Amino acid sequence: MIPVAKPNITKEDIKEVNRALKSGYVSSQGEYIKLFEKSFAEYCGRKYGVLTSSGTTALHLALEALELKQWDTVLIPVLTFIATANAVTYANLKLDFVDIDRNTWNIDPISIRQKMSADIKVIIPVHLFGNPCVMDEITKIADKFGLYIIEDCAEAHGAEYKGKKIGSFGDISCFSFYGNKIITTGEGGICLTDNKKLYEQMLILRDHGMSRTKKYWHPIVGFNYRMTNLQAALGYSQLKRIDKIIRERNEIASLYRQYLDGNKNIELPYEMEGRVYWVFPVLVKNNRDEIIKKLYEQGIETRPFFYLITDMPPYRDGNDFVVAKDISKRGIMLPFFVGLTKKEVRYICEILLHI
Ligand SMILES: *Cc1c(COP(=O)(O)O)cnc(C)c1O
Repeated sequence: MIPVAKPNITKEDIKEVNRALKSGYVSSQGEYIKLFEKSFAEYCGRKYGVLTSSGTTALHLALEALELKQWDTVLIPVLTFIATANAVTYANLKLDFVDIDRNTWNIDPISIRQKMSADIKVIIPVHLFGNPCVMDEITKIADKFGLYIIEDCAEAHGAEYKGKKIGSFGDISCFSFYGNKIITTGEGGICLTDNKKLYEQMLILRDHGMSRTKKYWHPIVGFNYRMTNLQAALGYSQLKRIDKIIRERNEIASLYRQYLDGNKNIELPYEMEGRVYWVFPVLVKNNRDEIIKKLYEQGIETRPFFYLITDMPPYRDGNDFVVAKDISKRGIMLPFFVGLTKKEVRYICEILLHI
């Protein structure tokens, strides 16, 4: 079976995690927390990093740090992983959904403009599958209407928009280091910002709302959203070779493109300059679920695209999101990970093209 995803773990990773383990700092103190926070923030061109227990808790922490009013509205794309929506729900804020662009599959700036109202306070662009959102358009809208931007970069480590790293645009930018993401800590995430006040607020909220000057004094209700030193050691080790990881992923993506390009039944993902690949996503004409089943029978594990958030019971919404609906039901994520061989890519494409 060719799996759809697989983490890339090296001897160096194991050595680094062992070092953390031997230090005795197995929880959320220890040198790797600060080291990984600092180096990941630097990598993205930001001042501050706050590691978290997951990408989901990173998004929730970011929203809490903004100190919004209950039921202020947050705009998100209707095609994303459920965590983007759930974080808004945890923060007692109101969600509103935006359709995606037919080419990029990312939140559509024209639809954002049509949605604008005084209740909207935050927008969360999601760089879906590693393709960067049009951040200058989104920033323009956010500036005009006084919105905060929280970037959801969970699928786009190392991507760039107009030469600037993804994660450097939001008031706060959130990443996930889940096992199938571009770099991993097992479970984990991070919030990045340049704003010292937001940074300090996130540190307090992450650690049970504890005062940073008076220990065990809790002026606010916080969370335990900390990452462990062991996880940070793995992340730090992975970050050291992130450029190599991205290069290898890009090579696999171009191989897929080479084999699938020009086929009238397969639509390839849009290649915005600076994009990275979290997965290799394609659209088929129809019978998506049947194709997934047939690939599976040939030893190829794949995944369907996300369902629309508004199709699921907690988030039912009367609106029709024409583009997202079409893309969601035709999308397949093909196997994609460092170590996938040329032979395997060719095999996958051959099977796919002959179904
Ligand atoms: C993976 C992912 C998350 C959540 O990350 P976890 O670490 O699994 O909590 C959030 N948003 C998007 C778009 C993701 O793909």
